[in-house]
Amino acid sequence: MNECPNCERAAHEPLWPRYTASCTDCAIRELAQSPGYFLSMQVGRLHDSYTKSLKAIFGNVKADYIAGHDRVKRAAAQLTQPRLL
Ligand SMILES: [Zn+2]
Repeated sequence: MNECPNCERAAHEPLWPRYTASCTDCAIRELAQSPGYFLSMQVGRLHDSYTKSLKAIFGNVKADYIAGHDRVKRAAAQLTQPRLL
């Protein structure tokens, strides 16, 4: 479904630190590890810097970037899942 080599790698190594510029799934993974996302989770609302990043990827329509935020949350959950090394 996704032919991005960085997403393919990240499927096996969730912390894979490389991203493809034109790939939305990469942008989502990157955002899930961004300071703006962590800040938003800490304060319990979308931080301005994070909202700006969401809009840059998903557009200015609130329903669209909130749906994007849900995808970022799912990506972040993958990152924090405990796994055996
Ligand atoms: Zn990708």
